[in-house]
Amino acid sequence: MHQILTVFTLIFIVFGCKNSPTNDQKSIFSGEMNRTDTAPNFGIVIHGGAGTILKQDMTDSLEAAFKAKLEEAIKVGHAILKSGGSSIEAVTKTINVLEDSPLFNAGKGAVFTHDETNELDASIMDGQTLNAGAIAGVTQIKNPIDLAKEVMLHSEHVMLGGKGAENFAQSRGIELVDPSYFYTEKRFRSLQQAKEIEEAKIDHSQSTSFADPFIKNQKFGTVGCVALDKNGNLAAGTSTGGMTNKRWNRIGDAPIIGAGTYANNATCAVSSTGWGEFFIRAVVAHDISALMEYKGLSLQEAAKEVIQKKVPAMGGDGGIVAIDRQGNVSMEFNTEGMYRAHMNADGELYIGIYKE
Ligand code: ASP
Repeated sequence: MHQILTVFTLIFIVFGCKNSPTNDQKSIFSGEMNRTDTAPNFGIVIHGGAGTILKQDMTDSLEAAFKAKLEEAIKVGHAILKSGGSSIEAVTKTINVLEDSPLFNAGKGAVFTHDETNELDASIMDGQTLNAGAIAGVTQIKNPIDLAKEVMLHSEHVMLGGKGAENFAQSRGIELVDPSYFYTEKRFRSLQQAKEIEEAKIDHSQSTSFADPFIKNQKFGTVGCVALDKNGNLAAGTSTGGMTNKRWNRIGDAPIIGAGTYANNATCAVSSTGWGEFFIRAVVAHDISALMEYKGLSLQEAAKEVIQKKVPAMGGDGGIVAIDRQGNVSMEFNTEGMYRAHMNADGELYIGIYKE
């Protein structure tokens, strides 16, 4: 009898352990993906800018084009992560696809400055090493995120600007293009319209003057990507043309580590999009990480706190995409819409544009 009891107890222990995960296992798989296997978790989230993006302003074909490009981009990064590649590699290659598309305000589709030039900003951060690279105000770099990565990996600096950044690019074999590469009819027309409105003496310094959806959209457009790889490493990257009609070498939040981009394996990876001046002053990306690190908030709680409370209270708007080390994601925005997509380790794809 005693032996039979022992055998039953052993069977119970073996099967019991199999079916009820330890606390550690629970926390690893408690993300929204609800994964049940023991394969390493990974995931990727992207954005293509936030703003007054309304269904009624969109044609079916334009909406389809945006969705197709978001899907193409996220699948590039997902394939890298799936085959065991690093989150830094996934973030860079995904952003490259968005930079090469005229649809988004980054790389090829960059908006025009007041002087009819294009000035590009980008940054990237590695959550494992806390290493980071950024560039601002470049005019000839085809893929600014590649140069940001090069600064991170092959310079002793974090941020390079303008001509110096381009000299560094040349010395590292990064692709330079003639500035005319960035000319697109649509963006050039947007600049002309922005100037006309400016001449009509609309006060750009007051948020209420942005009630016109066209003007409001001038503030927005950027691409970004965050990823968690199979080794548990987080990375974030952001690339932008900034604001239409910007002057005086204005630089937004996108290349500012802690505002536009932040990654830390201890917490999360974040990429921002929105009214850069506010995102700089609210230190948005790092603030989300800090709320997790010091206050123990979940990723979603932290993102909501910053995007739905702190930024609007200051008068700004925009959104973020973020992922934590368990693969939980946040795509929080306080605007009418944000181009966004998420793909988890099981290959489930979500694409969104408008508020839900
Ligand atoms: N944050 C960017 C900037 O201010 C623009 C954007 O994300 O829409 O330059």
